[in-house]
Amino acid sequence: MLDNAQTKGRPRALATEGDWWRFSLYEIRDGCIRPADGAKLEWYSPWPGFELSRTQTVGQTPAATQPNYQSLMKLVHQLEYLPGETRYPDCLSQKSQGLILDWCQRNGLLGVLLSRWEAISLAPRHDHAARCVQRRYFRGFGQVIQVQEITIASEDRNATVLIHGLDDLTPAEEAPSKTWARFFPSVGFSERDTFAYPQPYTVEFCQLYGERLIDFCNAARLLVGAILHLGRKPPKITGDPKLARHQALDTINLLRRPVASALDFAENGSVKPSRVAPSLLASFADMFAQDLIYGRPTLQCTCCGTPFVSSAYQARYCSKTCRLREQKQRLRAQMKRAKAFRAQGQSLRQIAASVGQPLARVKRWLRSAKG
Ligand SMILES: [Zn+2]
Repeated sequence: MLDNAQTKGRPRALATEGDWWRFSLYEIRDGCIRPADGAKLEWYSPWPGFELSRTQTVGQTPAATQPNYQSLMKLVHQLEYLPGETRYPDCLSQKSQGLILDWCQRNGLLGVLLSRWEAISLAPRHDHAARCVQRRYFRGFGQVIQVQEITIASEDRNATVLIHGLDDLTPAEEAPSKTWARFFPSVGFSERDTFAYPQPYTVEFCQLYGERLIDFCNAARLLVGAILHLGRKPPKITGDPKLARHQALDTINLLRRPVASALDFAENGSVKPSRVAPSLLASFADMFAQDLIYGRPTLQCTCCGTPFVSSAYQARYCSKTCRLREQKQRLRAQMKRAKAFRAQGQSLRQIAASVGQPLARVKRWLRSAKG
């Protein structure tokens, strides 16, 4: 029963729509990543760095020119799961939990809920004129939220959320206590269905929003797993590799589905296109898709295994450190072979030719071996 229905869009007060928020400090409490008390909220754009990452020149190590989503691939690669533990946070080593907090301080949370919800109707409440009012939020595009307030006859209407999985679009209508409330760790257990949740992307919302480690890690692994299956060297699996690639493509398409191309005004008043996304997770999936189309596939460092992005097909190392480390290892192996050849009675010239090093260097190696 609707009377006095009104809708309004999100006021353009915060920042451009593609921006994302982060706090200066996060903590893990009861298995949930949340802003620490007194942490400062800041909005930033993950996109300018992305454009810049394309300007890599030949010979430059990729480390300096990686898109933001590469840092998530690196994080997932570094996570250490402890044997015997299946529950978060205990299944993750202390070091891994520290890495996740560092990552969140640089990038914010992934916005898992903001990629999953479609609409929420809050529990009705009485306004100052003693009317019974129900507030509803609907997802528009990017970070645009439609807010509707309706006056209803009686209070006995429950709060409901329309929500789906990250890689499954089947919607479910459910009470906030089922999924929505997981992302609001400070809301009391008995209040989960009646709480006046703030409008998404407002300061109050950002301050209350948290992500359980299990939700953060599962979402990160879902995206990174799909990226790796579409990379230059897909991980070995027991099933059909072709099917795995198809599934990976489906996952990327589902994760970037809510990203839209919108029009915005430039500073000089002209109209420019901009990418708008409801979550960092969706932005990352979209950046990856753009890189793939652009011819910048995901590779894996031959030294440490970290995934990285490069348009140079011969690129082998994620960083200068890894390149130098492997160079050192190669030299050490050559030195060992040179000594073995010497023990077999080969001449210096023969040894230099077979290990592919200048005679002077081989001489130096063998001299240091004697001393
Ligand atoms: Zn490396």
